[in-house]
Amino acid sequence: MHPVAGCAARFWRHSVLIFVSCVFAGAVHAATPAQWVKSFWPTAKAAGISWATYQAALGNFTPDPAVLEKASNQAEFNQTIWMYLHKTVTERRIVTGQAMLGQYGALLKKIEARYGVDRHVVLAIWGMETTYGDVLNNPAIVKNVIRSLATLAYQGGSRAKFGRSQLVAALKIAQHGDITPQRMTGSWAGAMGHTQFIPTTYAAYAVDFDGDGKRDIWNNIGDALASTANYLKKSGWQSGATWGYEVTVPKGSYKLVGSERSLSAWQKLGVRRAGGKAFPRPGDSARLFAPAGADGPAFLLIKNFGVIKRYNNADAYALAVGHLADRIRGGGAFAVDWPDADLRLSDTELMQVQKLLADRGLYSGEIDGNIGSGSRAAIMSYQETLGLAADGQVSQKLLEMLQSGK
Ligand code: CA
Repeated sequence: MHPVAGCAARFWRHSVLIFVSCVFAGAVHAATPAQWVKSFWPTAKAAGISWATYQAALGNFTPDPAVLEKASNQAEFNQTIWMYLHKTVTERRIVTGQAMLGQYGALLKKIEARYGVDRHVVLAIWGMETTYGDVLNNPAIVKNVIRSLATLAYQGGSRAKFGRSQLVAALKIAQHGDITPQRMTGSWAGAMGHTQFIPTTYAAYAVDFDGDGKRDIWNNIGDALASTANYLKKSGWQSGATWGYEVTVPKGSYKLVGSERSLSAWQKLGVRRAGGKAFPRPGDSARLFAPAGADGPAFLLIKNFGVIKRYNNADAYALAVGHLADRIRGGGAFAVDWPDADLRLSDTELMQVQKLLADRGLYSGEIDGNIGSGSRAAIMSYQETLGLAADGQVSQKLLEMLQSGK
């Protein structure tokens, strides 16, 4: 969710597709937990933490073995966007979101009036992050954040830096009295409360919506949802605008996927809104996105899509939030279906695709199974020679065509 650089930003999520490229290296260190707590004190003190706060938070610190296990078991995990959407934008999340819209309607209206962020999007983020707070009741997931972050810092390795900086931010929260160290709960990697803010994000964006002097994203729904709205607003949310539109793309225009131009310029190229309605705000700049190529829905994404990605820097996440928001509002499924299954090819099959393209004189790069821009350009050329939508997408269908000698 948050703008933290490097691999540290990528591991803490419990819910999202992320390509974890950093390996957790458990560092060998001689310090006992008590020695480590003592050694970290100057850092905390320099950040303005009092001895009393420090003692209350870390006086009895012992590393949490569950955190260490999570930290070392984050296997690389990679799925298609549509598999992710099937898992996250479920009927249950939609229906519960609509119930929450009823239950918290007056509160959501006030939050929207103050921050200018669409209440359905705020609800959708709540739904994606903690299933509307449901996850917070799960002791297998919810841990003490100070202990978790101290464990990461104590253990060393690639997550220690993240652990240390987040721990300092968490100690500041405790010192301010927003919540006691004991009640500061969150994920194993420090994502806290209904909207899963890590401590530094909390420091920058959490708000006290009900005015009781505490920014309580753990127990106060108003504080939690207003904090999310404030975060989106401060990240550049455009009031009154949506995240993007499902569109139909002329066969020859898939090569423009990833490029950006105004909605009216896309319109001139024959890209149309699904359902045929006109684009509001035709001057908005939009990026063409077609994660399943010509075999699935395509989208024009506008500025607010990127704002949602500030929460979690993944297209899949932002699309899930945007679509869930639309569904909570009463909108329907996408006009075009996603492919039925995960149709990705094995490395051997990918190499076969490259070889068959090379045999046709369309590809001259390495036969290594890595589908980069060279391979995609070759696939597009091949698709064009057959009069197909040139989306550059690798698929079982493509391999079968190549194998059949076409
Ligand atoms: Ca409050």
